[in-house]
Amino acid sequence: MRVAAGLILAGAMSVALTGAAWSQTPAAKPAAAPATTPAAATSPAAPAPAAAAAAPAGFVNPPPPKQPPQPARAACNTPGALGVARTVEIDTTGGPGFGFEHFKELDFLRDKEVVLTFDDGPWPRNTPAVLKALADECTTGIFFIIGKHATYEPEILKQVYAAGHTVGAHTWSHANLNNKKLNEAQRKDEIEKGFAAVKWALGGISPAPFFRFPALQHPPEMVTYLGNRNVASFSCDIDSFDFKASKPEKIVETVMKKLDAKGKGIILMHDFQKHTAEALPELLKRLKAGGYKVVAMRAKFPASTLPEYDQELLKDLKLPTVSQRPVNSVVTTVSE
Ligand SMILES: [Zn+2]
Repeated sequence: MRVAAGLILAGAMSVALTGAAWSQTPAAKPAAAPATTPAAATSPAAPAPAAAAAAPAGFVNPPPPKQPPQPARAACNTPGALGVARTVEIDTTGGPGFGFEHFKELDFLRDKEVVLTFDDGPWPRNTPAVLKALADECTTGIFFIIGKHATYEPEILKQVYAAGHTVGAHTWSHANLNNKKLNEAQRKDEIEKGFAAVKWALGGISPAPFFRFPALQHPPEMVTYLGNRNVASFSCDIDSFDFKASKPEKIVETVMKKLDAKGKGIILMHDFQKHTAEALPELLKRLKAGGYKVVAMRAKFPASTLPEYDQELLKDLKLPTVSQRPVNSVVTTVSE
């Protein structure tokens, strides 16, 4: 496996981790899209999410924000496009888990149905190429965003949202939350700051309460924490291993081979990946030719971020507030 220097996903030791990687200090602003992301071993089965277990006393769970509905996907003008066969709405109360690699409770997909998922973006050139491939086939997916990357490329993330794709979170800095060096507070920080960064990049619009653990590593206490925060955990059924594919064709072969064997599933890919962006048009054609149907997953209510993380994000990164207007055009004293 090749590791490009300076990347958030560059790994000291990267053999045998599933899905995408582990914590490294985030990459510098993207100059060029990386060639690879780390590989990975199968992680142990995750604990069943504590279904609707009552949150511990004193647990703060802000209500979901009221926000305008997400823009609908553009009308499809491509005859014979893959399209979207079914849209399901997910009530994430109690933190359900999806993806049989780790969560075996919710078998909601019918035969030949797939959910397309993309991790580690947004990233220059690759994410827009993935968006184009999805648009060309009038179809959709879920994007699990790295908070830091969202602060680098907010405009690309806004395009993902404006195109009607579901946006979830994937930690602040792609930390492996099973890393023993991290204490519980640091793990919580990674989760909450990730959601706050995605909301900031979307101009204050909250993403779906959908979360994927980096490297598909699920520390039980954090699965329970997400349950108490009414956030769904997403593993997968079919890992494309696109991060170690030397060429796009390899990704198509890997996915189709596993899919033909399983018959349906949540497919894990990386829009961070150049090869994935190149492989996607062909993969979507193969899905269509194989009679597979895409299911869109959206959330019943948006994620609620924690105010202290919204503020910390602005402070830490000296990020501009959403509005750039001068204080006196924003603030008018009406009585004193
Ligand atoms: Zn990842």
